[in-house]
Amino acid sequence: MTTRRDFLRSAAAVVAGAPLLDSPFGPPRNKPLGWALVGLGSLSTNQLAPALQKTTNCRLAGIVTGTPAKAERWKTRYGIPDRSIYNYENMESMADNPDIDVVYVVTPNALHAEHTIKAARAGKHVFCEKPMEISVERCEAMIAACKKAGRRLAIGYRCQYEPLHLECVRLAKEKEFGALTRIEASFGFTIGNPTQWRLNRALAGGGPLMDVGVYTVQTARMLTGQEPLRATARTSLTNPTKFKEVEETMEFELHFPGDVVMRSTTSYNANSNRFTAFAQRGSFGMEPAYNYAGHRGSRSDGKDMRFEPVDAFALEMDDFAQCITTGARSRVSGEEGLKDMKILSALYESARTSGAAVRIS
Ligand code: NAD
Repeated sequence: MTTRRDFLRSAAAVVAGAPLLDSPFGPPRNKPLGWALVGLGSLSTNQLAPALQKTTNCRLAGIVTGTPAKAERWKTRYGIPDRSIYNYENMESMADNPDIDVVYVVTPNALHAEHTIKAARAGKHVFCEKPMEISVERCEAMIAACKKAGRRLAIGYRCQYEPLHLECVRLAKEKEFGALTRIEASFGFTIGNPTQWRLNRALAGGGPLMDVGVYTVQTARMLTGQEPLRATARTSLTNPTKFKEVEETMEFELHFPGDVVMRSTTSYNANSNRFTAFAQRGSFGMEPAYNYAGHRGSRSDGKDMRFEPVDAFALEMDDFAQCITTGARSRVSGEEGLKDMKILSALYESARTSGAAVRIS
């Protein structure tokens, strides 16, 4: 089994294009950066607040919520002082709160720009959940706001910190099975509550492609280390009552340089969670690939692909804190989120035009 130390050594070397630090765990800083979570829903409650307790370079210092009862619960549970509790209307006043260095935006997709821009105006660095927003223009506005404020912006692409994903990137990059020829990926789940924001176009921007299909786009970009040239997509619908505003299922293709094609299915009506990369002399992949834990990898030569489990949320936050401290470029920068949004936009355009190929700018 590969240990965390082995993993960190190799992981730091393989993510495409980014000058990485030796280890996201670097030497402990005297004072961890203070993070404020914006939106105390499922991800913040069940993953991010617990992950913050495991970080080396970060601490949970503040919250932004529209629900006073939640503020009380979080205050008691995490010892957050009253001066670091905000709502969506007054969050810009955190400008005068030196305890908060980074704002983590964890609200519905179409609120990411509003909350990122408010945080940047308050002089805070921003870590924003995926998808970055719901349009290219809004992503550009987020980047511009952070740039204007002289603050850093990064996106919550946790798979870029997950050992098996990084091992697959290494296999692809080092051509252990020869050059990649195609990638097949699929991420979907059966969505419940029909009144949730994920089914509301104004708040979600789209359906499973925005929510989980974006992970498969990330996989293809990580494995190839390249940007796709064109996109084709088709949607299908079996439940028009439930899926009035967003797509139910999308099947799509991304064409990369060198004739490498990625085929993906993303759905709110079927469970799937895997990818396989095919190369000249074999294949490798993961299933489940996109869970928070319990990932499994496999290679066509049967060699072992087990790694010690990590908390990718803790790793991504520690890495961003260290990037802020050292000035290193984040591997999950706002520009990365913008690239993905251009791809998602091209896929939606193709789906609107019955699968016509759309060039990605
Ligand atoms: P959620 O519905 O559980 O939480 C959303 C929070 O936003 C709630 O606290 C809600 O009160 C708040 N909110 C503020 N304004 C709102 C409004 N106008 N309408 C609805 N809610 C509003 O959602 P979640 O699953 O925590 O997802 C939040 C974000 O995190 C999304 O962008 C999602 O894509 C992302 N996410 C990422 C991962 C990951 O693994 N990286 C996993 C889940 C969700």
